[in-house]
Amino acid sequence: MSTVSGSLADTEHRDAAEQGGGSKLGADVFDWKIIWVPFVAMFAFYSMIRVYEQIYGFSAGLDSFSDEFKTYWLSVLWIELPTLGAAFVGVMAYLWKTRDRDLANVTPREEIRRYFVLMAWLTAYATAVYWGASFFTEQDGTWHQTVVRDTDFTPSHILEFYLSYPIYIIMGCGAFMYAKTRLPFYAKGYSVPFLLFVVGPFMIFPNVGLNEWGHTFWFMEEIFVAPLHWGFVFFGWFALAVFGVSLQILGRLREVIIASGLEAKCSFNEETSPLPAGAPAAAE
Ligand SMILES: [Zn+2]
Repeated sequence: MSTVSGSLADTEHRDAAEQGGGSKLGADVFDWKIIWVPFVAMFAFYSMIRVYEQIYGFSAGLDSFSDEFKTYWLSVLWIELPTLGAAFVGVMAYLWKTRDRDLANVTPREEIRRYFVLMAWLTAYATAVYWGASFFTEQDGTWHQTVVRDTDFTPSHILEFYLSYPIYIIMGCGAFMYAKTRLPFYAKGYSVPFLLFVVGPFMIFPNVGLNEWGHTFWFMEEIFVAPLHWGFVFFGWFALAVFGVSLQILGRLREVIIASGLEAKCSFNEETSPLPAGAPAAAE
């Protein structure tokens, strides 16, 4: 352990010298690209989807029995569902297959890098939840107030329920799986806040089934506060578990930063903190 942290500290000194900076993290530990690339990619993808809806929503999407509905909307449904199903299995299988089988010997610097990757996963998850549970969900309400209902497979639903929801589920489960397979803290058991953070928004997806069933049998006002919609809000609030996840990440990061020797270059004052300096050792 001591030799590991010693060599890490040396590496860090070299990095800092090369960059001419004090507390800068090397690009091998954190690169902004992992944050903004998924963010921009989702923005571009969903903007494109929204333009498609603008063009074909009203012109081809109002009658589910029409031929143009089959051409422009049902085809989208038949492409997106199997693709996203396969993507879910693919991402989970990849993360599991490439898991770290020697978590007891992760160096502090590597663990810090993995925490940044986890935060990138969570940023992508938050972005995807915004598009699904906020943007497309709000506009779905507007759609119903304007067009009312035809079937459960309106253009608005084909983009909301069956595209944007599965995408954020993949991101959330991917984030959880990443933590579980690569971070010692999460590998040991199951983090309650992290489970809530992923399972809550996931449950919005099955709740769609109840929602559509209810709308089919009880004709009701298309207002969001209708009791039938409470499930969405209930599960949406599980997103508050992000605070628990953040506390876990920050707590563990602090321990690993101390173990890595990086803390010498950080500005926080160890003397005022409740834990003895250098106490937790990540790789022991
Ligand atoms: Zn709807």
